[in-house]
Amino acid sequence: MDIFCKIASGEVGKDFIYEDEELMVFEDIHPEKPVHLLIVPKKHVVDFIDVEDHSLFQKIMKVAQKMVKEKGLVGKGYRLKVNGGGHQLVDHLHFHLIGPMEKAK
Ligand code: AMP
Repeated sequence: MDIFCKIASGEVGKDFIYEDEELMVFEDIHPEKPVHLLIVPKKHVVDFIDVEDHSLFQKIMKVAQKMVKEKGLVGKGYRLKVNGGGHQLVDHLHFHLIGPMEKAK
């Protein structure tokens, strides 16, 4: 079982910044910036490309917007990213919300 499944099941304890029936949000253990959150479906999905029910993306984006606001990142620069296709370290779909970021040049 991957680490995010263990967190979802409660086997591994984690403080959630946000939680609902389908999603959990927690801080990345190796933050790249002062804010580095992971937005993770509780249900096991390996890769971005595996998602068939696109309403999941709508839910993730809604929570991402909420986190941008709550973490004070509006107008501060942020990045929302997903690693896939084998580039990911953890084989369980997750979106990173990272900020503040400098303006891209
Ligand atoms: P990715 O390369 O997109 O799969 O990134 C996985 C991310 O998960 C990395 O940034 C790790 O620091 C993070 N991570 C791995 N294990 C944990 C954990 N137990 N709690 C929080 N973040 C984690």
